[in-house]
Amino acid sequence: MSEQAPATLPPIEVLPRDISAYRKGNRGVDYVHTLDSGQPGPHVLVNGLTHGNEFCGMTAVTHLLDSGLRPVRGKLTLSLSNVDAYHLFDAAKPYDSRYVERDFNRLWDDALLDGPTPGPDLDRARALRPIFTEVDALLDLHSTSSPMPPMLIYQPMAKYLPLSAHMHSPLHHVLLRGVKHAGRPLIQYGAYADPDAVPLGIVVECGQHFAKSAGDVAIGVAIRFLDFFGMVPPALSAAHPALAGEPMRYEIEQSVVSKSEQFRFARPWQGFEELQQGDLIATDGDEEIRAPFPRCTIVMPSGRVTVGRDMVLLAKPV
Ligand SMILES: [Zn+2]
Repeated sequence: MSEQAPATLPPIEVLPRDISAYRKGNRGVDYVHTLDSGQPGPHVLVNGLTHGNEFCGMTAVTHLLDSGLRPVRGKLTLSLSNVDAYHLFDAAKPYDSRYVERDFNRLWDDALLDGPTPGPDLDRARALRPIFTEVDALLDLHSTSSPMPPMLIYQPMAKYLPLSAHMHSPLHHVLLRGVKHAGRPLIQYGAYADPDAVPLGIVVECGQHFAKSAGDVAIGVAIRFLDFFGMVPPALSAAHPALAGEPMRYEIEQSVVSKSEQFRFARPWQGFEELQQGDLIATDGDEEIRAPFPRCTIVMPSGRVTVGRDMVLLAKPV
């Protein structure tokens, strides 16, 4: 989703660590490891660092590798995507290492991947494409620039319902219809976006980029994901139970784009506040932006005004 740095920097509880020990995998592509149970079953993938400054996926992937986990059935691939961007991290400018030149999560069109355009992010996507297209399911771990409740993001297709219902963590589900951005995200690439094809691609936004809690969420979510496919031992599954309560599902209806530097939120929205039709969301100069429909729900409010960018998504509970 969109990235805009908050006006004030949050505490940086997690710094990048040396991950060179994970570089040499067993797939002929750096930072990709496949663990084969030797038993029949699905092939699933847990991926981190689609965005270089989103450390929770690195935390979860390295944790799973370090833990000595072996899948009970099928194959588990663990990957770290935009490692070049990760290596650019500068604590004084922590939002600048999302990618090197181009957002890795906006490249997923065959015409672009097959084309001649050079670049480190594109080349990394090209190297990883055979991995992403061979699996039955992908969990892509992300985090958000501002602190907000973790959320599961998937496409509104029947094939996603059993997985999302089983994971039951996180409990905020955001249904992503169509391609909202210029450039296709990874979970909307190829078979992931085909309602009749088996492969599933989901994102979990695990919390704020630099919060330790985001890494903890990512580990728990990864175990829940693997548990759906019957790939983790019962004791590990039991240690990461489904959260209490029922998932809330939201469908994005529209985005609010700032027209001026005077854009101001009416309240410091955290995400998932439900408004009544007509409630004031923000002002943009003289213009008042009010909830355009009943049960209008705030999703991913931006921490900083950038003219012409999405400031907040407005969703409806479904
Ligand atoms: Zn991200």
